[in-house]
Amino acid sequence: MVPHDYHIHTHFSCDSNASMISMCRAAIEASIPEIGISEHFDLHPKDAYAGFFNADKWWEELRRCQKEFHDVLLIRAGIELSEPHCYPKAVEQLVQNYPWDYAFGALHRVGDDLVFEEAYFNRAEQTAYADYFTELQRMIQSGFFDILAHMDIVKRYGFEKYGRFDPENYEEQIRSILQTLAHRDLALELNTITLRRSIKETSPSKQILQWFREEGGQWVTLGSDAHSPEEVGLGIEKGLSLIQSSGFENLASFKRRKPKRSPLP
Ligand SMILES: [Zn+2]
Ligand SMILES: [Zn+2]
Repeated sequence: MVPHDYHIHTHFSCDSNASMISMCRAAIEASIPEIGISEHFDLHPKDAYAGFFNADKWWEELRRCQKEFHDVLLIRAGIELSEPHCYPKAVEQLVQNYPWDYAFGALHRVGDDLVFEEAYFNRAEQTAYADYFTELQRMIQSGFFDILAHMDIVKRYGFEKYGRFDPENYEEQIRSILQTLAHRDLALELNTITLRRSIKETSPSKQILQWFREEGGQWVTLGSDAHSPEEVGLGIEKGLSLIQSSGFENLASFKRRKPKRSPLP
């Protein structure tokens, strides 16, 4: 059973063509009781899609879907903030102006470099990962968000260049990030998109989930990072078993930016 899928994109994100209704129907077909729609909010000036997200139109559509499916599907209002620490004013405004259920903090860039592009990996393996985690620590210090999205997503392309990513080589840095999250009572997302890529493991992997538990982490969420209806809920059952075997007894369910314990099925 899939309890929730908190990471779903629609055509309000620059990299998806899916209608919101089609994503909701896919969740209902997969018997998922609760989902979160979380579009990209990108502001980097080099990004062709910076400013793409239209919050007013999105909220209109979300309300329509919530109304239409209210008896079969709980639809949360999420947002995926890219590098929120770099754009404090715009992010604060967006976060405060609407009644979000949760905000993801997502690091897709280190400085100007997108970690989904080859240019980022024109550095030694150790540096590519260490630079990413250093920037991630900066992002977490800034606040603004509730859930850290796909915390080691840099490994998605790193894997193709350097081979398997071993978190133990960066244990000190990663644990320090997890500690900060735990102290701030923030959640960690287990994202399953990387199960569908050549690396074939979740982001983050089980080792990092275990460290988060050891560092006092309380809250975890699950997301497929679906960009099309066929992807809704993919990998969530596998993610659930990793969460369970890492010592967590609950998932976090978010409403108006407050987490609540939701027992694992
Ligand atoms: Zn992302
Ligand atoms: Zn995403």
